[in-house]
Amino acid sequence: MRKYVIMGVQGSGKGTQSELLCNELNLVHISVGDIFRWNVQNHTKLGAQVRRIMNAGDLVGDDLVESVVRERLDRHDWNYGFVIDGFPRNGRQAEFFMESYDIDGVIHLELPEDEVRRRVLSRRLCPNCGMDYNLIADRPKQEGRCDICGHQLITREDDTPEALESRLADYNEKTRPVLDLFRRKEFVHDIDARPPAEKVQAAIRDALHLPPPRG
Ligand code: AMP
Repeated sequence: MRKYVIMGVQGSGKGTQSELLCNELNLVHISVGDIFRWNVQNHTKLGAQVRRIMNAGDLVGDDLVESVVRERLDRHDWNYGFVIDGFPRNGRQAEFFMESYDIDGVIHLELPEDEVRRRVLSRRLCPNCGMDYNLIADRPKQEGRCDICGHQLITREDDTPEALESRLADYNEKTRPVLDLFRRKEFVHDIDARPPAEKVQAAIRDALHLPPPRG
């Protein structure tokens, strides 16, 4: 059983790296942001509660986040373990998490802020299947269309310059201290997120003493 947390600023590749790690190792990728986005797109009650907060780039309240995480992990569909992405994002969430679950490692993707801005503002998303694109490094084959399902791509509503600045401020003020907390427990593996995705994945595997990626 392997339980990892993946952390890093917006656009550092948490989603992509989590998927690469999970696919081969049979781990479950739990992205709190994806759970919220699914709820917004499907007009659920939870979606209505978080939509405005998310669009402004603000953080959703801890009680709501904790109940979503608890409910998701209580499904126990993660026999081989999980990678949790986008959580914990502040001290209180970290305490809640550490009280309830043992962690095997924290993957910290490091990316300078100018690169964050460049990546995030060119990010596109398929609202149908969840596939992520980047107009710089990972363009769709047909402009504006998902390679997997052909659906029209969108820009995340929180990928605007204003919302990005708000999320960066939150990250620096609230999430960095969580890293320090994990660092004291010697969980943290710092990974340079600038190279291409496969190289970053290889560095993660190496740091976690896992077999290198196949293919
Ligand atoms: P992400 O995809 O991880 O960037 O998350 C998108 C948005 O979902 C964030 O900007 C927050 O509004 C909300 N969110 C995701 N995870 C959390 C969390 N752990 N705590 C509070 N809000 C969160």
